[in-house]
Amino acid sequence: MPAAALPGRATASSNPGAIGLSGWGNYPRVSTELLAPRTPAGAREHLIGRSGVVARGAGRAYGDAAIGTHSTISTRCLNRMRSFDAATGQLTVEAGVTIADILAAFEPRGFFLKVVPGTKFVTVGGAIAADVHGKNHHRDGGFGTIVESFRLALPGGEIVSCSRSENAALFMATLGGMGLTGMILEATLRLLPIETAWLRQDTRVAGNLEAAIDQLEGGASATYSVAWIDCLARGAALGRSLVYLAEHATRRDQELLGPELAPFPSPRMSRLSVPELFPGWLLNRVSMRASTSCTSAAALRSKAGSGSCIGIPISSRSTRSPTGTGSTAAAASCSINA
Ligand SMILES: Cc1cc2nc3c(=O)[nH]c(=O)nc-3n(C[C@H](O)[C@H](O)[C@H](O)COP(=O)(O)OP(=O)(O)OC[C@H]3O[C@@H](n4cnc5c(N)ncnc54)[C@H](O)[C@@H]3O)c2cc1C
Repeated sequence: MPAAALPGRATASSNPGAIGLSGWGNYPRVSTELLAPRTPAGAREHLIGRSGVVARGAGRAYGDAAIGTHSTISTRCLNRMRSFDAATGQLTVEAGVTIADILAAFEPRGFFLKVVPGTKFVTVGGAIAADVHGKNHHRDGGFGTIVESFRLALPGGEIVSCSRSENAALFMATLGGMGLTGMILEATLRLLPIETAWLRQDTRVAGNLEAAIDQLEGGASATYSVAWIDCLARGAALGRSLVYLAEHATRRDQELLGPELAPFPSPRMSRLSVPELFPGWLLNRVSMRASTSCTSAAALRSKAGSGSCIGIPISSRSTRSPTGTGSTAAAASCSINA
């Protein structure tokens, strides 16, 4: 497998058959055998007779959670969507399908994932294993709450079905289990029906940390809440923030916002995207101050112009993949050449 094609960071290793692999934080770099099965059955085969094995999704975990001491099984080629029931919103996918894949395929069809972390370039397997949280954790809980069931390959290779009613203890231990109970091969998720792909956003200015906490506590009933904290502010302004609260916009909200706006705009509408990785030299006091000033000014301008209701297409808030390896519902092959 060519190192350049891998998610996360990989380099050649002095150990034949192994490569140096790291997580998103680039440290530590560990020598491991990297396997990339193309089918769930192939993944199971790799587990039999091996120890020191761990599954790896998109490699977005910051530390070394997705690196096996002996072998690492990548799920990036397990990227097929299996079935979808529009009546129930139930979607069954292989573990290597990413949240970005699901949003690209289903947001235009009026479905969203109720729990989405800060990057959409994570796999369903990784999201279940870390029970990732979104900006609605206080209301809706973690990713596990939208998981109906999954098929798990145990370390010995046995495959078991798990849900809240079948192998329930194993099901619960695997949600947030960081891959230690076995390898998730495929999962059934429950998607959230949405009327539009827009968010109705309320931006509040908080002059210091205490005010920001008050605003967040006051907005606890909002579906989504997040604070953009100016960590460069000092003295009485320490912790000053912009607190964003948001709800999924209804058809009525979108018509009020602008009848010419499509309820499900094309992703191309959001031309600007923020890279997931900034070069180190770009992150300094001056650039951070400039960025914070721009964010505050933009928020205040929007507030002045349109009250507290700002329309935001959901997809435009996520970053673009630096690896460019996202697959689609119809993907028949994957970008990792094992
Ligand atoms: C920019 C950025 C923003 C982030 N924002 C958030 C956030 O807002 N909220 C949040 O909760 N997290 C956040 N994270 C962390 C990220 O969501 C988690 O680390 C997630 O688990 C990464 O998924 P992955 O597919 O990359 O998994 P990996 O990093 O490859 O693996 C993570 C863990 O999942 C296990 N695993 C992966 N696939 C499987 C499988 N098929 N079966 C069993 N175990 C498996 C691995 O063994 C490992 O323990 C962020 C990360 C980044 C880089």
